[in-house]
Amino acid sequence: MTAVPLADVARHLDSVLRIDEVPDFAGALNGVQVETEVPITKVAAAVDARERTIRAAIDAGADLLVVHHGLFWNGTQPLRGAFLRRVRMLLENDLAIYSAHLPLDMHPELGNNVLLARELGLDPSAGFARYKTIEIGVAGMCDVPTPELVSRATRFARTHGHVVRTAGLVEGKVSRRFAICTGAGAGQETLREAVMSGVDTLIVGEGPHWTAIDAEEAGLTIIYAGHYATETLGVRALAAHIGDTFGVPWLFLDAPTGL
Ligand SMILES: [Zn+2]
Repeated sequence: MTAVPLADVARHLDSVLRIDEVPDFAGALNGVQVETEVPITKVAAAVDARERTIRAAIDAGADLLVVHHGLFWNGTQPLRGAFLRRVRMLLENDLAIYSAHLPLDMHPELGNNVLLARELGLDPSAGFARYKTIEIGVAGMCDVPTPELVSRATRFARTHGHVVRTAGLVEGKVSRRFAICTGAGAGQETLREAVMSGVDTLIVGEGPHWTAIDAEEAGLTIIYAGHYATETLGVRALAAHIGDTFGVPWLFLDAPTGL
């Protein structure tokens, strides 16, 4: 059985994902979030560090859980209730956590955005969703009837428990310029950027109510493919990458929220 020190896996991931250079939201805390002293023999991947995935990783015999949404989104918080249960389970079972948020969203090979584009048969040629020094999403040209894109997104999202919604979808529309921003990708900034750059079809995970109205009035189609569903791709690719690099088995723990 292959056993790799956590520090070796972490050093490799930090470098591949450029953890020190990529900016992120305050609560993201990229890199090792929970350190353990046992060597890594099996890796589990999940979108969220939540009780259900932590329990499933332990049951599967994993020593490392790789996630997109880590433990520390709400800043300083007391170790109580559900948060304490998560931490206690991790410590009592020697399960390490490595978290990668925006560094994983934007990664050119393992990223949620580039992989969602491929999943939908789209070929990205540019970045999208500017944030500080980076572009989180991808964009490109295409020539696909928009309902066909919706069908592809529907087939994909269904496998992760999500029902796709759309806004601003008009009959006979053909998508020629697309942009993708996974997760909570529809917002003031991304809508403005999409309209300014002539994007006709924006594919996101989710967005607030008003984005549907603004999109329709701007002649933009938004495909809401699910926050959870659109962020399953990166962690899965990252775990596979760890498996290939270090020769350890890995698995993906699906825990859909339906959102
Ligand atoms: Zn997210």
